[in-house]
Amino acid sequence: MKFAGVFLALPLAFFGWMWWGTIRVEHELRPVASSIAGHPIQVDCQGWLSSLVDVEAREGEVHFSANGLPGPRIFLTRPTCKRLDAFAHSRHHAALDCLAEIDWAQPDPLPPGRACEREASPTVYALLILAHESYHTAGVIDEVTTNCYAIQAIAYVTWRLGAPQREGELAAYAMAALEPHQVDGYATPDCRAGTALDIHPETRDFPTELPLAPPGLPRR
Ligand SMILES: [Zn+2]
Repeated sequence: MKFAGVFLALPLAFFGWMWWGTIRVEHELRPVASSIAGHPIQVDCQGWLSSLVDVEAREGEVHFSANGLPGPRIFLTRPTCKRLDAFAHSRHHAALDCLAEIDWAQPDPLPPGRACEREASPTVYALLILAHESYHTAGVIDEVTTNCYAIQAIAYVTWRLGAPQREGELAAYAMAALEPHQVDGYATPDCRAGTALDIHPETRDFPTELPLAPPGLPRR
């Protein structure tokens, strides 16, 4: 009987530890997502078992009702949640170090395949996905618009997860540079300062406004 108890206790402890880890990261991401959405929302991180059988090609999602109203929760895949969790609990984000060496004034500062693109983009995309799904819960449906708004929220997300302001700015520059290389349905030449997609066209700053704050939605 003792052995049976041990065999039962070990998997229970394992699943309990995995469950607690998921709850912890959801709790950490919820206020960040809510501040971008402008109202309280829930964050659901995919569980370990669910991730093993997941064959869908998406990093996060929000469900909309038949009449186009967003649900009050965002779903993030396990890899996305794990990246955001690791980011929030690291004092130093080595994957973003190379961004400080980039000349952002050049035409294509972070082309696909470049060493820094390979190193930084998984982290930058995880930050983007949290902002992207948060904007969906704010009622933004169009993917190009959601994507561009999310780019403008990356610095804020990065900062809220514990990074210095400058690192947030660099992550936003990186995503703005990655954006033209995104697949169809997300990229647009209009995601830049002064266009209809600029949340704060009254300033020249893009993609980040200072001081850092949730960008909100355009007032027009
Ligand atoms: Zn979307």
